[in-house]
Amino acid sequence: MTSISERLQAVKSRLRQAETEAGRAPESVTLIAVSKTQPADAIREAHAAGQYAFGENYLQESLEKMAALADLPLKWHFIGPIQSNKTRPIAENFAWVHGVDRLKIAQRLSDARPAGLPPLNICIEVNVSGEESKGGVEPNEVQALADAIAQLPGLKLRGLMAIPAPTNDIALQRQQFRMLRELLESLKQRGLALDTLSMGMSEDFPAAIAEGATIVRIGTAIFGPRIRIQPPGNPK
Ligand SMILES: *Cc1c(COP(=O)(O)O)cnc(C)c1O
Repeated sequence: MTSISERLQAVKSRLRQAETEAGRAPESVTLIAVSKTQPADAIREAHAAGQYAFGENYLQESLEKMAALADLPLKWHFIGPIQSNKTRPIAENFAWVHGVDRLKIAQRLSDARPAGLPPLNICIEVNVSGEESKGGVEPNEVQALADAIAQLPGLKLRGLMAIPAPTNDIALQRQQFRMLRELLESLKQRGLALDTLSMGMSEDFPAAIAEGATIVRIGTAIFGPRIRIQPPGNPK
């Protein structure tokens, strides 16, 4: 069996290779290890192999793991769907939230962000696949939401995030990632100081890096298959 440490090193070398092929600077892409459903010990093992940033989808599960891992200097990213009655613990415990697609949620996160912490880093989720069932704001609504979120004092709007429709067709993968990059560029042209494209998962991260991803969120390629049945009502 391959260890978490070995798989992490393999992912990192593929990531560095994708950077090189895209003509991008080494280490210009940040790796978030998506540890949802994985036990705290798996996170400890990844940290021992040099990983600091972790992504979690389920609030209760992540708070338990944070408590078990409080001795480690980890950076936590909330990447799951956000319920409005969960905004306070999210604002209190995470450094980043990817997947904001409503102003009301952003306002609640801003209000709940403790004054002693730096502003909460935010990515707006965009529906780049056109699937109606998907989370994320429609592309034509991104500008208005970005302008409003940029005003909120407890938040720092960093950029955009997407979960494209899964496909093995590299051209289709790139098309969806390119849409997100072009949206980010249009926001920057309007004067917003944004620096983040959070896109790319285990099956499509090389295409995301070719299209300018600055953060990739990778789970199964590092930790192996997820080991618990998901709670009903939550995607993936
Ligand atoms: C689960 C998840 C990932 C990681 O997916 P893998 O295919 O396991 O790499 C990335 N982003 C989000 C939002 C997720 O929910």
